[in-house]
Amino acid sequence: MPFRPEHSYQDLSEQLFAPCKATSVQAPQWLAFNEELAKQLQIPQELWATEKGLQIFSGNQTPEWATPAALAYAGHQFANFVPQLGDGRALLLTEVIANNQQRYDIQLKGSGRTPYSRGGDGRSPMGPVIREYLVSEAMHKLNVPTTRALAAVATGEWVQRDTAQPGAILTRVAKSHLRVGTAQYVLHLRDYNLLKSFADYVIDRHYPALKDAATPYLDLLEHVQNKQAQLIAKWMSLGFIHGVMNTDNMTLSGETIDYGPCAFMEAYDPATKFSFIDKRGRYAYHNQPAIGLWNIARFAETLLPLIDDDPDKAVAQATATIETFQTTYEDYYWKEMSRKIGVNDPTIAKPLVERYLNLMQAQQVDFTQAFRFLGDATPERAQQLFENSDSWQIWFNDWQAHADRSDIHQVNPAYIPRNHLIELAIQAAANDGDLTIFNRLQRMLADPFTERTEFKDWFEPAKSEQAITQTFCGT
Ligand code: AMP
Ligand code: MG
Repeated sequence: MPFRPEHSYQDLSEQLFAPCKATSVQAPQWLAFNEELAKQLQIPQELWATEKGLQIFSGNQTPEWATPAALAYAGHQFANFVPQLGDGRALLLTEVIANNQQRYDIQLKGSGRTPYSRGGDGRSPMGPVIREYLVSEAMHKLNVPTTRALAAVATGEWVQRDTAQPGAILTRVAKSHLRVGTAQYVLHLRDYNLLKSFADYVIDRHYPALKDAATPYLDLLEHVQNKQAQLIAKWMSLGFIHGVMNTDNMTLSGETIDYGPCAFMEAYDPATKFSFIDKRGRYAYHNQPAIGLWNIARFAETLLPLIDDDPDKAVAQATATIETFQTTYEDYYWKEMSRKIGVNDPTIAKPLVERYLNLMQAQQVDFTQAFRFLGDATPERAQQLFENSDSWQIWFNDWQAHADRSDIHQVNPAYIPRNHLIELAIQAAANDGDLTIFNRLQRMLADPFTERTEFKDWFEPAKSEQAITQTFCGT
């Protein structure tokens, strides 16, 4: 089947986007191109890391198949409602139908100002582009639903932040860019028919099985909630901290979106947070499930007029649904954690996981390695992580009596995009134009469950002098 560009979202309503072209850049150069994803999307091969592709993925040329537009959305940022955010530095180029029949958005990010830019320059420094490219692709390989990275190009221009930094543009691919914040934007337009066609569009695109349901909008709430619960359970099981779970950064498809200040936890501590702007730790590791619920409640509010004409009845039904979030989340979480230690029965696994996490926290042990090493044929590597090996040994004996080690290495990665490694890649690329580390990290993270001696030097957590304890949105 050929490359099939479409623009279904733009047929919905002109109120939801602003047509806009990318601002051209001086001297674009390739940083990365994802051939595996290009194949899936059936992107014409003449655009794969070619000069022609470079002109398109830098925004210098608008191909005839693109209908570029900035999408409107609202959102709660750190719990404060902002009625108009929108793509301030991103453009939806087109939708495509991939070879799996799935519809995807192709979006440029960092492509210049749009009607929603407010005071921003519409650009992105190279650091955040490299970070998003590495981490979103790593998440995909770690089996976490996520937006993906198709391309990254340097613009050959400077972007002024705290310092002047080289600019770059990411091409992001998503099942859609519809967010809780998009639904909030539609609600605030106060147009019942538009709200209904928006919800129907979301059902059509992401939850088509609900089309003929008796209570489609209540079911939509339940399905989005279910996807988010599952997603956050995945994050928690990998030690992933999103860092900026605002409602505009929460997709209705259940994909992880927006890799700004995100980071993977190393030494286990549930209160871990990295984001510099998250002063109070609203988006700390252990708060993620509760914030997921908070965001779902905001989504529920947007559906109330569709759930029932009687506002009291609508609230009662929506409340009954979101009250199940916590148990749904916990079911997913304990399923993930049970698999991580190779114990099938969750009632046996749960206390074992809790005890193991306590040991990790008390002895500041790397979360990724502590689980990974349980899959080893011999206990040495796991034991060596724990300074107090007596308490570890007691736990290990109890665990061993119930464990099946056969899948542990398939579930617990050897490699994650550790912060200090991402930082090495960014520094080399941005300061010296050297992509060696970036490329090598991509290769390592493309197969995170297979340990390879080639990457021995990047297996360990950061040494204390390398450790990065704060991250920045970098916008
Ligand atoms: P984010 O922090 O990336 O989720 O972005 C929050 C909002 O700020 C979104 O509406 C972005 O489009 C907008 N934004 C972030 N960076 C820029 C920028 N450099 N120029 C214009 N808008 C931006
Ligand atoms: Mg965002």
